[in-house]
Amino acid sequence: MELWQQQARESLTCTQTLADRFGLDSDALDRVVARYPMRITPYQLEMIRQADDPLGRQVIPDPLELADDSPLTDPLNEEQLSPVPNLVHRYPHRVLLLVAGSCFSYCRFCTRKRKVGCAQMKITMGEILKGIDYIAGHPEVNEVILSGGDPLTLSDTLLDDILARLSRIPHLQVVRVGSRAPVVLPQRITAGLCALLQRYQPLYFLTHFNHPRELTKETVEACQRLVASGVMVVNQTVLLRGVNDDADTLYRLFHSLFRLQIRPYYLHQMYLTCGTGHFRTRLEEGIAIMAQLRGPLSGLAVPHYIVDLPGGHGKVPVTPDYVQALGDHARLQAADGTLVDYPQR
Ligand SMILES: *Cc1c(COP(=O)(O)O)cnc(C)c1O
Ligand code: SF4
Repeated sequence: MELWQQQARESLTCTQTLADRFGLDSDALDRVVARYPMRITPYQLEMIRQADDPLGRQVIPDPLELADDSPLTDPLNEEQLSPVPNLVHRYPHRVLLLVAGSCFSYCRFCTRKRKVGCAQMKITMGEILKGIDYIAGHPEVNEVILSGGDPLTLSDTLLDDILARLSRIPHLQVVRVGSRAPVVLPQRITAGLCALLQRYQPLYFLTHFNHPRELTKETVEACQRLVASGVMVVNQTVLLRGVNDDADTLYRLFHSLFRLQIRPYYLHQMYLTCGTGHFRTRLEEGIAIMAQLRGPLSGLAVPHYIVDLPGGHGKVPVTPDYVQALGDHARLQAADGTLVDYPQR
């Protein structure tokens, strides 16, 4: 067994141990975990100083999860957009293929928390093969996004098998792999894995840092191994109340990623998923943060702030209201906040 597999196996799932460590009520934790599973990698546990710090909030079960009565368990309508199980085909040329049913750590804000880590999300090789057949039968699909759960919970052998099958589909040109492993189990990013991914370029590795404190010696080195292997690393962040909902924190996060050659790609407005309401900020707050980032942050480090619309209508970018139309003139808001007239012709 590889070291990372050993560590993944030692992840914390016992609420009593967690309660003792951080002075929490284990009965309250149990009630949450009965509905939404908990798992925290040993590495991530070491990084948490207090239950309510930006790292603790992301993975420690909170009774507020049960107090949220949003009716939407699948706000993105992924189940309806699945022509075959565990494949989501919403956009014409790219599909999402869910290849793993579990993650190294369970994020409390996960949009798939209805099923990630639960018995109903056991994904079989047979289902993955059906997904691959679907892609092979749809010549318009040129990109596949491997997601889950976390695809890197699979062994290198299985991952290699899946990528090899995909690479034999002539019309499929680009692979994207979404994984939080660099953040929560950096030991997973082995030299062997990097060599494997390198063989399937063009391959975009989409990771998920939410807070500058997640950039540690270990996680930075994991990302450097990926970057050095020639894999393009991009990052998505979820805007989370009480974790990263201020411009200074996000400035530090995005600038640090930029320095590491990791392009900040998306800043997601929190989804309407049941059990995540306590993390949601108002849209106006996200817009104000983006307006504050635009000047100080290198343009290469500014992500798109997006809302994934409920009902499966897709992602839309949300931008500060920079333009006021005034007939023959438009008035644009400059980075310093002043309004500047701009002739239309
Ligand atoms: C987000 C998403 C994608 C990828 O969209 P990009 O804008 O290319 O990152 C593809 N399919 C589904 C179903 C998605 O939710
Ligand atoms: S790693 Fe991704 S899929 Fe897994 S729990 Fe976190 S947000 Fe959800």
